[in-house]
Amino acid sequence: MPAPHTDDIALRVRAIESLLVEKGLVQPAALAAIVETYETKIGPHNGAQVVARAWTDPAFKARLLSDATAAIAELGFSGVQGEDMVVVENTPTVHNMVVCTLCSCYPWPTLGLPPNWYKSAPYRARAVIDPRGVLTEFGVELPPEKEVRVWDSNAELRYLVLPERPAGTEGMDAAALAALVSRDAMIGTGVATSSSGAAR
Ligand code: FE
Repeated sequence: MPAPHTDDIALRVRAIESLLVEKGLVQPAALAAIVETYETKIGPHNGAQVVARAWTDPAFKARLLSDATAAIAELGFSGVQGEDMVVVENTPTVHNMVVCTLCSCYPWPTLGLPPNWYKSAPYRARAVIDPRGVLTEFGVELPPEKEVRVWDSNAELRYLVLPERPAGTEGMDAAALAALVSRDAMIGTGVATSSSGAAR
């Protein structure tokens, strides 16, 4: 069966939505609030704050690496799909990368909803078979001696990568640092650089 066109999906979603509203199963205002929350409040800018805090506060970083769920909740990020978080730290010798080989498990409170490529079959298969090849396609070239660790997120555990703090950022505060942390850097398909784009 050919993949349905995006317009078809949008039409189908609207049809289902009006049916649910008509039957009194959902309230339009509640739906609007959920959409608004994921469009503006929940997204990778939350995770970027967690990373920037870890870069600037060694005690927080220690808590983050020992009990990520509790440390992330200190910043107010918790809830559905983020109940059991594990943070894996990139170092000069180790690069971490996250996938869900089974479906699309992803840490919603810190990263928002997953990008389409994260849910795609090629990424899910190739991230484990050929992680370096996938990283190259994302523009990430690692020295051959650097170990790549791939973490398989699932319904019980969601992983977040703590990227390495870029060189030359010593004088920057947490807010400025957060602007350097992209979504991909926290999935591990990117790295943070002193000029990398902000997570949106
Ligand atoms: Fe999944």
